[in-house]
Amino acid sequence: MAETYEDRDGVIWMDGKLVPWREANVHILTHALHYASSVFEGERAYNGKIFKSHEHSERLRKSAQMIDFEVPYSAEEIDAAKALVLKESGLPDAYVRAIAWRGAGQDMGVASARNPVRMAIAAWKWGAYYGDAKFQGAKLDISKWKRPSPETIPSAAKAAGLYMICTMSKHAAEAKGCSDAMMFDYRGYVAEATGANIFFVRDGVVHTPLPDCFLNGITRQTVIGLLRQKGIEVQERHIMPEELEGFEQCWLTGTAAEVTPVGKIGDYSFEVGALTRDIAETYEKLVRS
Ligand code: PMP
Repeated sequence: MAETYEDRDGVIWMDGKLVPWREANVHILTHALHYASSVFEGERAYNGKIFKSHEHSERLRKSAQMIDFEVPYSAEEIDAAKALVLKESGLPDAYVRAIAWRGAGQDMGVASARNPVRMAIAAWKWGAYYGDAKFQGAKLDISKWKRPSPETIPSAAKAAGLYMICTMSKHAAEAKGCSDAMMFDYRGYVAEATGANIFFVRDGVVHTPLPDCFLNGITRQTVIGLLRQKGIEVQERHIMPEELEGFEQCWLTGTAAEVTPVGKIGDYSFEVGALTRDIAETYEKLVRS
């Protein structure tokens, strides 16, 4: 039988201590399960070290503040807990998931001020997020769902509630044989994929959407820095759907996705070109350095 995420050997850090993997459970009346009061991080460790661990810990705390709760651990304490989980996992390369949420308690309505904030960290082995697409160029569907306005939801948070439309978009994409979906935003501009940011190349210049209503990914910021170090012009701006036709190359960035070339978005085709391969290699070298 296929391995499931609830039935594994190992330990998970939960509220300050390590518990056996199968015992890392929550009650059914957990506030987060009903009202999406949870924030999380996706991180990768390479050669036994989590890439940009501290930035991720700080983002977790900020995401929680954006959805109105405080993570009861400092960024340094979160860093130490993640390092412990990684060490216990025995994995040199791993995906690390930290999550903080409003637990079960005295409140079961929408308001939840009296319920405890809880936190957990797990690590597991996770290969290329898009499988073979990583090398051949991923095929992307175009989602019918739009990234919402920051006046609708705290769109800069890495919060569970923002992923409802991502899961639906990805299911629709997979049903069409695609690896993921590209989403437009509420104004009709190109936004991102369901769990990764997007970049385009035209005439040697890189273009990427301005992250004003979606996550400004840590990988995105890293890749922009690497491109600029190479002397390549990067334009962060609003990108119109009509522009997709004229772009030559495209890639996605994210902790899980790393740098993944894109071959197709709907009917638009892109080549896995020299710059795409170069930036993917440079990123790989950096995370392993
Ligand atoms: N956008 C979304 C919706 C994501 O889930 C992710 C993955 N965390 C990203 C962008 C990329 O963020 P990062 O590079 O920090 O992993």
